[in-house]
Formats: sequence, C-alpha cells, structure tokens
Amino acid sequence: MSGRCNLCPRRCASRPGFCGAGESPRVFRWGAHFGEEPPLVGERGSGCVFFSRCTMKCAYCQNSPWSWKGGGEDKTVGDLTEIFRSLALVDRCENWNLVSPTPYLGAIREAVKPLLDEGVRLPFVWNSSGYELVETLDEYRDLCDIALFDLRYSENSTAIELSAAPGYVEAARAAVKWAAENAQRLIVRILVLPGHAEEAVANLRWLAGEVSNGVELSLMSQYTPAYKALSMPPLDRAVGEDEYLTVTDEAERLGFENGWVQGFAAADPDSPLLGENMSADHGSVG
Ligand code: SF4
Ligand code: SF4
Repeated sequence: MSGRCNLCPRRCASRPGFCGAGESPRVFRWGAHFGEEPPLVGERGSGCVFFSRCTMKCAYCQNSPWSWKGGGEDKTVGDLTEIFRSLALVDRCENWNLVSPTPYLGAIREAVKPLLDEGVRLPFVWNSSGYELVETLDEYRDLCDIALFDLRYSENSTAIELSAAPGYVEAARAAVKWAAENAQRLIVRILVLPGHAEEAVANLRWLAGEVSNGVELSLMSQYTPAYKALSMPPLDRAVGEDEYLTVTDEAERLGFENGWVQGFAAADPDSPLLGENMSADHGSVG
C-alpha cells in the first residue's frame, strides 16, 4: 500500500506513514456512546466511530490498543456506510461522531454519500486532538458540523515530549480558529495534565484573547495514568486538586461561562464558573 498522505501536519512522504493508517479505514469499535459532553449525547447517545491509528502518540494514551497499536478491523467503504446507517436508523443517535478520523477522511466522505443521497443525515462531530491542518479542514468541511477539538499543550517542547507532535501548538490553535469561523458549533476540550496545569492556563488565555471567552469549553479533570506514562513522573499520577483549581479559577477570571467543567472530588459542585458541571466520568479523550 503506498501513496502520499498530507492530511495532517506530519505530511508523510508515504502511506502508511507516521500514524500507520493504510488506505482502508480501520475501525476499533462503534456504537451509541454516552461519555461525551451533554449536548452531544442527548437522549440516544452520540454515534461514535472510533477509528484506529492516531496522528499523535501520547505517552498517556488510554486508547493505545487501537491508537498506537492499530487494533480494529479494516472496513470497506460499503461496511462504513452500513455503520453510519445503523447509527442513524437503528440506534437513532444524535450525531455521527468521528473519533480521530483524519487519516480516513476520503473514505468517510465516500461512505456517507449514498446515505446523504437517500436523505439520511446526522450532524457530523469531528472529534480531534486538534493536531490538524487548516487545508484539510477546508477540504473536508462538510464532515465538520460540530468541532470537538482539544487544546492539549501550549509548549511545543511538551507536545514533542509527550505526544511526538512537533508544531502542535500552532496547528491546534489554527484548527480552533478555523472551527470558530467555519463550524456550526465548537467545543474546546482542555484536559488538565499533571505537572502541566500552566499550559492549560496559557491556552485559556490564548482562547479568550484570540478567539472568544464565549466559546464552549470543556474542562477535564479525568486524567488517569496509562501506558508509557505509568513510568513517566509527573504523568504517573492524577492531576492534583490545587492544579485543577488553578485552571478552573482562571476560566472564571477570564469570563468563560459556556460549557462544562468536570467535577473534582473536592470541587464545589455548584461552581458558577461555567454553565454546567459535568461528572468526572464524562468526556472521552480522543
Ligand atoms: S494522517 Fe497519517 S499518513 Fe497522513 S500525514 Fe498524518 S500521520 Fe502521515
Ligand atoms: S490520547 Fe488521543 S490524541 Fe493522544 S494518542 Fe491517544 S487517541 Fe491519539
């Protein structure tokens, strides 16, 4: 299998490239999922398709069996059509939630075309680490009604160390700006990493200054050590309450009012920081 792929900032010279994705879309699992932000879940769940392979390699990835190691099954475009059909017509999900879809965008578009022609359509959620190229977002904007984008790092040195993702900061910030201008809805996820709360604070300041403090924000306390991070202090521990409160306090100071903040064990459940609290078991990190 060969051919160039320039879909993400890595712009690999050949395919399979850095992410390991081949030409056929590989899916680890799919189905109605209730672990996302409340408006994405609605009554019947978010119709998630978890694609295998990922353009980042996070040391703390909880999905390593399929993101790093490629677990899952190769699907034909026709198989993928039937997955989307089932999520829409059998599970009657609220949306089609494309989790880490970037290496397979062409096949996804091809797979949904017959459904769209039949009038079967759900809103597309593009569920991403934020490590995207604006030109790819432009080319596939029809697959991005709702952008669910992470801002994970504010320092490229950390992005390289923890996710092998050079240029992450510029890429993710450009993607968020693109989504603010082009998507129907943008939700920015900020996962607070132990020992790196100041990067979450820096991203909040950037977001308020360069986009808007009206953006829907999802602040996440759920970090759990996994995979290589189990032996990489400080990533081998949960985020501390003081660290997390540094971030939620800054969100309040900056005037963010829309979105969700995951509870912390001792955090005030009636915090006025954001519009709604989100329990700590919500929000998949994709
Ligand atoms: S999607 Fe995968 S193959 Fe394509 S440029 Fe990115 S890492 Fe390389
Ligand atoms: S944590 Fe998310 S972005 Fe990072 S490797 Fe795992 S699936 Fe990819």
